[in-house]
Amino acid sequence: MNIFDRRYETMPRPELEQLQLERLQALLARLRRKVRRYRESLADLRVESLDDLARLPFTTPETLADAFPYGLFAFPLREIIRLHSAVGPEGRPMVIGHTRNDLTQWSRLAARQLAAAGMTANDVIQIARGRAAAAAASGYLLGAELIEASVIAEDPLHLDYQLAMLQNYRPTVLITTPTHALDFARCLEQRRIDPQSLHLRSVLLSRNVNPQIREQVASGLFASVRCTFGLGEILDPGLCVECEAGQFHINEDQFLPEICDGELVITTLAREALPLLRYRTRLAASLRREKCICGRTGALVEPGQRLDRQFRFREITFYEAQIAHVLAQTPAAGHRFEVQLTETQLTIAIEISQDLFANTLTSAENPRRQIELELLARLGLEAEVRFVEPKR
Ligand SMILES: [Zn+2]
Repeated sequence: MNIFDRRYETMPRPELEQLQLERLQALLARLRRKVRRYRESLADLRVESLDDLARLPFTTPETLADAFPYGLFAFPLREIIRLHSAVGPEGRPMVIGHTRNDLTQWSRLAARQLAAAGMTANDVIQIARGRAAAAAASGYLLGAELIEASVIAEDPLHLDYQLAMLQNYRPTVLITTPTHALDFARCLEQRRIDPQSLHLRSVLLSRNVNPQIREQVASGLFASVRCTFGLGEILDPGLCVECEAGQFHINEDQFLPEICDGELVITTLAREALPLLRYRTRLAASLRREKCICGRTGALVEPGQRLDRQFRFREITFYEAQIAHVLAQTPAAGHRFEVQLTETQLTIAIEISQDLFANTLTSAENPRRQIELELLARLGLEAEVRFVEPKR
């Protein structure tokens, strides 16, 4: 078993829970002292055991968006050395900061995932996460450098360049999105290139996908496939590790997980710049604390659906409300629509009606194309727009 941080990743549960309690107490003291928003709400709260966590207030994505840009930071800006943006509720902006210590810790957490996937100093790792995921790419870069792998940090957008890079640079590991991995597998097939002629042995996908897609990527690229998942506001990568047994372990020395009404709630235990107390991730999940054959002791998490109407397509996060906002500026204003998403295709199905047709006649442009262009220009989404019969 390839365990990067053996001390923390396999810490016996009683010791781990003691560490969590101490870190939680230190976190509360820090929040009271350094973040105005928490000063009053935490004033009289004391934590004697982890069970007391349930009495502490939640932090929501709305809180974080309301505090934009720096309202929840626990450190002055001059001590923040990295800033990343994230998309908040209804597409509102959020900003995530890191101190020097945060980045050091991030590199260790990313390295845990890479090591668990069997990556070593002998690997050549290509990180191709797409422009919209620069933050995640930078996290993998930190981790890959820490395990002393050779990193290709270029991100060829075009499949031809990607192919040339795989043939010439001979990376053994590709860190990418499920969509890009599937596009690439298809590209090899169309050009009748044997994936075995490449040197890939492992693909690390940015998101948890179902077994069929794992299998398509594995056979299409002739490589073993691992997934990971993270959350931009918490840490991506770094929240959890997919182990040799195919289980997602939360890195519990750093993140204290709970499930509240089916939703994953995370408290960051050691983060300096932007500590989050009981952050509601809007991700449905289940949590099990049981032994795993890999030896890691962090809780096993099974991620489920998003609980808000948030979607991700080709690394772009967007909300249903943003689509509605764009449609409001087009002939489809006020019409009901549905977002249909697969790994490789985004379709906005808009219910047609008589006034939409009337509008169409007066509109200079083809309305379908017009809406597609608006979605591309405003949200960066390459979507196909279809008009469908209204559902009764
Ligand atoms: Zn495991």
